[in-house]
Amino acid sequence: MTELTEHNAKLIAVSKTKPASDIMELYQQGQRIFGENRAQELAEKARILPADIEWHMIGHLQSKKVKTIADVVQMIHSVDSVRLLHEIEKQAHKCDRTIQALIQIKIAREESKFGLQTKEEIKTFFAQIQTMEWNHVEVTGVMGMATFTNDLTQISSEFKQLKTYYDHIKEDYYPTDDRFKEISMGMSADYQLALASGSTMVRIGSLLFGARDYA
Ligand SMILES: *Cc1c(COP(=O)(O)O)cnc(C)c1O
Repeated sequence: MTELTEHNAKLIAVSKTKPASDIMELYQQGQRIFGENRAQELAEKARILPADIEWHMIGHLQSKKVKTIADVVQMIHSVDSVRLLHEIEKQAHKCDRTIQALIQIKIAREESKFGLQTKEEIKTFFAQIQTMEWNHVEVTGVMGMATFTNDLTQISSEFKQLKTYYDHIKEDYYPTDDRFKEISMGMSADYQLALASGSTMVRIGSLLFGARDYA
C-alpha cells in the first residue's frame, strides 16, 4: 500500500472477527494499529496481544460499553453524541488516560449508518462541546462511511463532502488546535477514492485479512 505513504495516511488494520494469530502475522510485518467494532472483542484481544498495539474502536459504541475498553483503547472513531463523549471522559479519567475521539458524520444515503446528519446538528454538537472542560477525551477529527454502492462518483462525492465538513469544523472550532487533524474514511473497496479526497486514516479489513464470515 504505497499510496498510504504518498498521502501520509495511517492504516488501521480492521481485525474484527479474525483470530489473534492473524493479527500477530501482520504485527510481525510491522503493523501496530488495529481496529475492532465490538467492545468485548477488542478488550479480549488487547489482553492477550502485545502491549505496543494501538487499538482503535471503529464500530458503534453504547455508553455502557465504554468501560469495557477504556483501559486499552487509543481512539474511538464512532462518537456521535455528547453523552458518549462524557462517558469516555469519565471512564478515561478513572483509568488515568487520555482517549482520542473522532466524531462520526453521516455521509451515506443509507438508513442504517450512524452519525451526525445535518449541518445544523454538526454546528450544535461542536458548539456544545467547546464549552466542556474535558481533560481525558480529546476530539481529534471526524469519521465517515460512504454508501455501499458501485457508483464511484457517488462515493467520491460523499468523501469530498466529509472533507468539506472537516474543513469548516476545523476553521470554526479548532483553528489553532493541532490535535484536530484526522479524517477517517476509506475501506477495502473505496480507500483509493478516500485518499484522493483527503483521508488521513483508512480502515481496511478484508483486503488485508481476507473475507469475513459476517460483515
Ligand atoms: C468492517 C469495517 C471496516 C473495514 O471493512 P472492509 O470492507 O473489510 O475493509 C471499516 N470501517 C468500519 C466502521 C467497519 O465496521
